[in-house]
Amino acid sequence: MKAITERDIRASFVNCSKGEAKRLGLPKDLDDQPWDDLDFLGWRDPGAPERTYLVVERDDRLTGVALRVTSGGGRGFTSRSMCSLCLTTRTGGGVALMSARRTGEAGRLGNTVGQYLCNDLDCSLYLRGRKESMSGGDLEETLPLEGKIARLHANLDAFLTKISA
Ligand SMILES: [Zn+2]
Repeated sequence: MKAITERDIRASFVNCSKGEAKRLGLPKDLDDQPWDDLDFLGWRDPGAPERTYLVVERDDRLTGVALRVTSGGGRGFTSRSMCSLCLTTRTGGGVALMSARRTGEAGRLGNTVGQYLCNDLDCSLYLRGRKESMSGGDLEETLPLEGKIARLHANLDAFLTKISA
């Protein structure tokens, strides 16, 4: 993805208030992100670790989503979960259930969409082998990287559609 600025990020959120978007904690090393290798920017709020965010370019526009970690992290070290975006299998809480408030009326009524995602939201880096998942249990796949990237975008798109449908 293209490098984006703090202003781009704060203006991109679709499922939280303008006030929340203004206050949320950004990644400390925003200027040093490996943009060329990122399909989306995902991070944990440095001041509130149960809050996570992801920003992706969609139809030439940035879409930002605020998430809350609702489980994971504390579960048994032997339990395995698969990230619904990059399909990396990780143990020891490496994948957490995160929920996003839906946009509009549904969100005001408290509706959320839950999805299992990599704890650190570094899916793009796992796909490219720039980060190891440690579980050693990744699917043996013959799908080329381009195919995996396309699949990640499709999975992310489906998630975002559920949030804003
Ligand atoms: Zn992932």
